[in-house]
Amino acid sequence: MKRQPSILIIYTGGTIGMIIDSETGVLYPFDFGNLYDRIPEIRKFDYNIESISFEPVIDSSDMEPEIWVKLANIIEEHYESYDGFVILHGSDTMAYTASALSFMLENLSKPVILTGSQLPIGMIRTDGKENLITAIEMAAARKKGKAAIPEVCIYFDCQLYRGNRTHKENAEHFKAFRSVNYPVLAHAGVEIKYNYGAVNKAADKKLRVLTGMDNNIAGIRLFPGIGQNYVKSVLNTPGIKGLVLETFGSGNAPTKQWFLEVVDDAIKKGLIILNVTQCRKGSVEMGRYETSIKLQKTGVLSGYDITFEAAVTKMMYLFGNNYSKEEIKKYLQIPLRGEMTV
Ligand code: ASP
Repeated sequence: MKRQPSILIIYTGGTIGMIIDSETGVLYPFDFGNLYDRIPEIRKFDYNIESISFEPVIDSSDMEPEIWVKLANIIEEHYESYDGFVILHGSDTMAYTASALSFMLENLSKPVILTGSQLPIGMIRTDGKENLITAIEMAAARKKGKAAIPEVCIYFDCQLYRGNRTHKENAEHFKAFRSVNYPVLAHAGVEIKYNYGAVNKAADKKLRVLTGMDNNIAGIRLFPGIGQNYVKSVLNTPGIKGLVLETFGSGNAPTKQWFLEVVDDAIKKGLIILNVTQCRKGSVEMGRYETSIKLQKTGVLSGYDITFEAAVTKMMYLFGNNYSKEEIKKYLQIPLRGEMTV
């Protein structure tokens, strides 16, 4: 007898789950218990589909590490009972959640696909139905008896992306995300075409869920004219352990004496600084220009082509799970879940 795939949908909130009150025109979240009434197409799948809804649902701008922990725990608790997980989430911070979950779920061998929409599911032209239906199909897809996509992904507007490579780039087009430094994992056209060469291999070890997330980190985006007081005050924030420094081009920063001294001092006092480029495409290459050699000499680490979203969540994960300082420095410079190319 053919095995029926089993999918768990976890609804956190965001535009996708909204319907419009026909009298007032106000958007409000629909009752997820009525999923099949809202999207009757789902009945046509020969799958066992169940859902869990957050109470209350949130706009993803209110996303917090505690909620990532809640999501990771739900997945752990239901891991053996389902073949794949689909998380409905607002698109605004979806790239952060996908990155965070990719680190928290070690040895993943099943798909965890986040999706959402730009237009609410209750609107006629919604992109939410296609996004949800295809995300479910991808979460159930198998190859040689195993999950076809055993990683944390984002599905949006016909493309499946590695979650920790994504960035929300568009607030009005249906194509809201991009993944410039890594190929798409699948494309849904007339057929769904999987790019298996780019997909992570399923782990053959047991899933390990690491839920420590330490938010004692900071970010500075450099700009010409950035002030000394501002940089100093961020680097001297009480309790801060790590900084994501968004630099210019291939990892370049001002060569002014005060700037290098502030960075050098902070590193000597124990701060870990990761160099991430402001460019959406390409990689940090410290040593290519004089302006990055100086930074490298202070002990700033290269984040290569990691996104800001993945850098921030990777730091939270590393600081939150009792790794030694040396391990944290080592792991920041190598890919743990395919989040960067070294
Ligand atoms: N503000 C919404 C959210 O991120 C936008 C969306 O759902 O796409 O929750």
